[in-house]
Amino acid sequence: MSQLERACDSTPKEIRVSIGTGITLGLVDGKIDAKPTTAYLMTYRKSKCSANCTFCPQSRTSSGKADMLSRVSWPVFQTKQILDKLRGASERNIIRRVCIQALNYPEAFTHLRAIAKRISEIINIPISVSCQPLNAADMRLLAEAGVERIGIPLDAANSELFDKVKGKLAGGPYRWKRQLELLKKAVNIFGRGFVSTHLIVGLGETENEMVDIIQDCVGMGVLPGLFAFTPIHGTRMENESQPQMQKYRRIQVARQLILNRISRSEKMLFDDKGQLVDFGVEHGILASIVRTGQPFITSGCPDCNRPYYNEKPSGPIYNYPRKLREEEVLEIQHQLNLGRGSGL
Ligand code: SF4
Repeated sequence: MSQLERACDSTPKEIRVSIGTGITLGLVDGKIDAKPTTAYLMTYRKSKCSANCTFCPQSRTSSGKADMLSRVSWPVFQTKQILDKLRGASERNIIRRVCIQALNYPEAFTHLRAIAKRISEIINIPISVSCQPLNAADMRLLAEAGVERIGIPLDAANSELFDKVKGKLAGGPYRWKRQLELLKKAVNIFGRGFVSTHLIVGLGETENEMVDIIQDCVGMGVLPGLFAFTPIHGTRMENESQPQMQKYRRIQVARQLILNRISRSEKMLFDDKGQLVDFGVEHGILASIVRTGQPFITSGCPDCNRPYYNEKPSGPIYNYPRKLREEEVLEIQHQLNLGRGSGL
């Protein structure tokens, strides 16, 4: 039996899917006004993650529910059942990507690799994985198993915050420097633009710090996906607030400008509190970009819309899982202080 066959043999019998994915695949009753275009899967284990990120209900010391990640619940199904449903949904073009997430536990890599291999054998669909740091050899094996893109989360905007929410001070295994090194190695293996990271706005960073790390990621060939901090019951950050919407909108615009090489963090201006006050582009360019609504749509891999990961469907909505309506764009122009009278 080859190494790869052995990996497939270790496909876990059960797997979690996000509730929205469950509804879309017809496994869970319910209505959603924005269906996910990516199927979100999560490796299953009975106990929680061995890491200890302060914002996460899956963390070792959290008393939050074990079927939660952010504000989304993840029911458990038989892996075989999910594979059958995925094949049907992909053939009907309902699902255009599969994203497999893994908690940190000893068998996580074996499980990820086996699941990715199974999917790529039976379905012609791009696969992303989002996992905690692996070494370069393991990342190569994932690529061989059919994984197109990998996400390695930074979550925090700088090393101090990282240490506080994911690293030493949080009682977790992660180290900022190593995470950055792994992102670089991942780019060598998967290619520029095929490696993502998550950045959570609202962990205590300034806008300047967040914009700088976005610039660094883009410079490395890493695609930064933005999340809004969401307080979850049972975590050590359960009493903290979500980020101010204006702050989130400014960072979304800055990300769009940096990603599309229209501006750079060094060209942007910040006040003495680190708040973005000038995007480093002409007003007309800024206005037209905001008017598209594009910066405010969920950011991540292609076809990842992650509906309501950070927000209730009733709002306020940080990341739109679909094209924005006219009135939503108008509201954002107002939030950005770019409304009527300012040339927009
Ligand atoms: S590694 Fe991921 S799942 Fe584990 S505690 Fe941190 S954020 Fe949660």
